[in-house]
Amino acid sequence: VTALTENENPEKLLKSRGYKLTGPRKMLLNILETNRGRCFTAQDLYEQLKETGIEFSTVYRNLELLADEGIVSVIRGNKDTRSYELCSGHHHHHLVCVNCGATRCIDSCPMSLITEHEWQGFTPIGHQFEIIGICPDCAKNSYTEKPG
Ligand SMILES: [Zn+2]
Ligand SMILES: [Zn+2]
Ligand SMILES: [Zn+2]
Repeated sequence: VTALTENENPEKLLKSRGYKLTGPRKMLLNILETNRGRCFTAQDLYEQLKETGIEFSTVYRNLELLADEGIVSVIRGNKDTRSYELCSGHHHHHLVCVNCGATRCIDSCPMSLITEHEWQGFTPIGHQFEIIGICPDCAKNSYTEKPG
């Protein structure tokens, strides 16, 4: 599927693919749209919506559907954590907390730092880059990584 681009309306795209804009989908897209450039776990989104009586499984299922449709991108953290953000159509990378799996978007891309000489004739067609570390919340709780 073609991913959502920067100026495209996610609700329109979903409908154009034959999906109904159900209450849960509308609420999820609304949060993701007003927070473009931020990632959320299914749990984060569930916390924000649980007053509406929504089930966690509904949140999760709809996020996965939006991901399959290229409307939302999935950032895989360590320990099988998954974060979701609205596709921005804009190349960027992520910081991932090794303790809680929280993710943050960063705009810098290290590709521009590699000199022509370093490429040694290699033609890059893609790259993956993420920084793992400790998020401010976990640092506050004086997290220390345990072996194993
Ligand atoms: Zn953390
Ligand atoms: Zn991101
Ligand atoms: Zn990059």
